[in-house]
Amino acid sequence: MRVDKFLHQMNIGTRSQINQLIKKGKVTLNARQVLTGKTQLTPGQDLVKLGEREIQYQIHYYYLLNKPVGVISASTDKHQKTVMDLFNKSDYRSDLFPVGRLDKYTEGLLLITNDGDLAHKLLSPAHHIKKTYEATVTGKLDTRVIQQFATGLQLKDGTQLKPAELRILEYNKLEDVTRVEVEIQEGKYHQVRRMFGAVGQKVVHLQRIKMGTLAIDMGLLPGNYRELSQNEVDDLL
Ligand code: URA
Repeated sequence: MRVDKFLHQMNIGTRSQINQLIKKGKVTLNARQVLTGKTQLTPGQDLVKLGEREIQYQIHYYYLLNKPVGVISASTDKHQKTVMDLFNKSDYRSDLFPVGRLDKYTEGLLLITNDGDLAHKLLSPAHHIKKTYEATVTGKLDTRVIQQFATGLQLKDGTQLKPAELRILEYNKLEDVTRVEVEIQEGKYHQVRRMFGAVGQKVVHLQRIKMGTLAIDMGLLPGNYRELSQNEVDDLL
């Protein structure tokens, strides 16, 4: 691979910025100054440095974002703020995308990556990857709903769902709302909201807290993100 292409892929800068760095003698390959962007290297094997900084070869990037309410789960949009707009310039890459969607008014765990194979695995219905949500719904939830969810609910439009697990956490008498946890194994459009709609309840707050082995990080404020640890990546793969 050409050294300029390598540096571009590692998000060092635009092609012209990289050429400037090379011209200024800032780039070395195995301790030798690089004179032209055409210089060939073997990624992952040769040692590339920008000044004193070692440029590690990385193909896939994985970020855990705590999606806030009000932004959409898309890579780009002409009119609305997207989850990718929350990224710092230094982390942003045009090949990153959100794995699945949370609707505009849902918050919580969203995996952002450029690993298409992992995204496919996590989203493919054949893998039954579980997603857990914490929801606040109107009124006092009848415990019979637990059984309805467990046997597979039918939505108002006739869609038959797979079994889901519902845990009732607490009823708030003052506000007349119930806090619950729901674990689903599908990812149908507005699924959780529509599930509660089917049993006569409205969701007033919805947050995803888990997807497969990946859990929300309580230390991340809405709108913030961090790279996944190697263990978190390994568990997902
Ligand atoms: N279910 C919903 O209704 N909305 C989401 O964003 C995710 C699951």
